[in-house]
Amino acid sequence: MASPTPDTRLERMDDLVSLCARRGFIFASSEIYGGINGFWDYGPLGVELKNNLKARWWQRVVRERDDVEGLDSSIICHPRTWEASGHVEHFSDPMVDCRACKKRFRADQLGDAGKCSAREGSSEHDFTEPRNFNLMLQTRIGASEEAASVAYLRAETCQSIFTDFKRVREVARQKLPFGIAQIGKAFRNEINPRNFTFRSREFEQAEMEFFCHPSGREQWFAHWLDERMRFHKELGVDEANLRTRPHEQDELAHYANQAVDVEYRFPFGWQEIEGIHDRGDWDLSRHGEYSGKDLAVTDPDSKERVLPLVIETSVGVDRTCLALLCDAYCVEELEGGDSRTVLRLDPALAPLKAAVLPLSKKLADPARRLYRELQRHWNVFYDDAGNIGRRYRRQDEAGTPFCLTYDFESEDDGQVTARERDAMTQIRLPIEGVVVWLRERLEARA
Ligand code: ATP
Repeated sequence: MASPTPDTRLERMDDLVSLCARRGFIFASSEIYGGINGFWDYGPLGVELKNNLKARWWQRVVRERDDVEGLDSSIICHPRTWEASGHVEHFSDPMVDCRACKKRFRADQLGDAGKCSAREGSSEHDFTEPRNFNLMLQTRIGASEEAASVAYLRAETCQSIFTDFKRVREVARQKLPFGIAQIGKAFRNEINPRNFTFRSREFEQAEMEFFCHPSGREQWFAHWLDERMRFHKELGVDEANLRTRPHEQDELAHYANQAVDVEYRFPFGWQEIEGIHDRGDWDLSRHGEYSGKDLAVTDPDSKERVLPLVIETSVGVDRTCLALLCDAYCVEELEGGDSRTVLRLDPALAPLKAAVLPLSKKLADPARRLYRELQRHWNVFYDDAGNIGRRYRRQDEAGTPFCLTYDFESEDDGQVTARERDAMTQIRLPIEGVVVWLRERLEARA
């Protein structure tokens, strides 16, 4: 993707939020009731972008490898899972309240208190002492109100990978080293949801847990860090906006021995989109202990029984979508003082691959025939409303890489005009060659 010049890059999140709502990428959940803080809905374009991203991850992490198996586990698991994982005890953030403005903050992110309205009146905050607030969302199962009916919505997707580890290994006839991957919803009762979808209370993770012999931990950590950075670069984001950041000893999670974040430079600063963690044998040993099952396996090389170590890659689907949107957004000055907003998404990830635009409604029949043909291959759009310039702008904002205009000449020469989104170049193309022409361009990066 050609990167936009610095002065056209997204600076205010509000501009993106408004485009996303206007064009139906992402908008507040339960909008007609005023929304619900920390929950978002993906509209017709958003769901396609997200699905394309998830399909790319699944392709790279599961299908193209012989040593990773897929899983789709339930969101609610046995509550003991979360005792064993340490979440009941440790998964909390320190919370403070401001007595003056009544707002609630994370004590470790008090930079946010700049938004505290008390600041305008007096420069003093009046914070309560920090209290630990567990981030797991609770629910109840069955008709009983007893404590025993309490269950949790999973706070991360990986715990079922650990509890299902033995069965998946057996059914897939895998030997160490190998991994298990899944994509799914996770829930955290975040104290301060903010920055659009960046910190939500319901979000999607794509996680892969790689089980290896203890002697392979360094090698596999390096391998996965490398793989994951390559993945992010191949999404077409500007590499200047990507970096890795190793965790300091004092910020490691309770289960982690080593961790590196993949960060993206959002308009609100460098922030984590993925974590690569060396979880050691924490999870398997705890689940072994709490379930009473032996989760050790025989190492095929040394023939010894070992409890494998785990290297985890955990990426936020929503955060990556947000990074893609931020990176793709740009406003371009055109000749004549005009400007256009364009999403320069990688064509392989773009929600719509092409739009078919008849120059006049009189040309609907042949234009629709082309549209129906393309629909058999891709998500495409048909638009005959408004002048052609306006229709191009709408597709630019949706990130559609190609527009195919059917005009009166098409009737005679059997060709359409293909317009490319970024350079706005136009060429004439035989109608029967459109599918092949598009395929070459859409698969170029995949
Ligand atoms: P943070 O420090 O930002 O709260 P984390 O370190 O707790 O994130 P992990 O537990 O490592 O995050 O989760 C892995 C990935 O899941 C993160 O890199 C992120 O992309 C995603 N994720 C975590 N929490 C949220 C959230 N509240 N909203 C959206 N995505 C999230």
